[in-house]
Amino acid sequence: MNNNIEGKVVVITGASSGLGESTARHLSQLGAIVVLGARRIERITALAGELAGSTEKALAVRTDVTDSKQVQNLVDAAVKAYGRIDVMINNAGLMPHSPLERLKIADWDQMIDVNLKGVLYGIAAALPYMQAQKSGHIINVSSVAGHKVRPGGAVYAATKHAVRALSEGLRLEVKPYNIRTTVISPGAVATELPNSITEPDVAANVKKIYEVAISPDAFARAVIYAMSQPDDVDINEILFRPTLQEV
Ligand code: NDP
Repeated sequence: MNNNIEGKVVVITGASSGLGESTARHLSQLGAIVVLGARRIERITALAGELAGSTEKALAVRTDVTDSKQVQNLVDAAVKAYGRIDVMINNAGLMPHSPLERLKIADWDQMIDVNLKGVLYGIAAALPYMQAQKSGHIINVSSVAGHKVRPGGAVYAATKHAVRALSEGLRLEVKPYNIRTTVISPGAVATELPNSITEPDVAANVKKIYEVAISPDAFARAVIYAMSQPDDVDINEILFRPTLQEV
């Protein structure tokens, strides 16, 4: 059966844990070639080794998404190894929540650099190849925080709202190139994400929200749903939460 996943070359940023790692595992199992980017090279090298087996259908490339050259290098490595890029998943992100009045400017900068500029760099790296191919699929990761703002989460929500705006602009502009665009907005998913919170009181509040967190498999299934549609079907936006998550 052609699942529209088998044989596709999929580049995933933030593939060393959580949503990215789970997605790499699921897509690999369905026959995709996965190219993994993250800073923790030992983790993605081990994952690529595990997924590739003897088939050479996985590759790990050390990538810091705050550096556009490194993101370009990740995508170039995929094309060099496998001849094309079918899907770019701009997933890397972090969430060091804190109230604005605490003035954690370094955290604000980091969220803008990773969550927003990292996505832009992913688009910049993949788009020219996809335009030339006249096919491709760019999947960006927003959040429920891309739809709702909570106290303490203003900057994170700003980056995730921006990812949705960017994804909608991209959708409108890439029609002539037969490129599909999807933005996925998860609710609480059990990953390492809350570890990026440095303020103890904020971390304690977020821990309560994450008591109902669901498996990263839920995100991987959303990616599979979007990718596996026939080529003339463009799934533009997916929002999901744990059944027990209220807000
Ligand atoms: P994790 O903390 O488990 O994973 C984050 C990933 O991002 C890691 O692989 C990390 O890799 C990578 N990353 C962070 N900074 C950089 C960087 N500078 N360059 C390259 N990679 C980087 O969290 P999740 O899996 O949950 O997060 C994935 C995405 O999902 C994020 O965009 C997050 O905002 C979003 N999301 C998550 C939700 C959740 O509840 N878990 C809910 C809504 C959205 P490394 O450190 O090795 O570089």
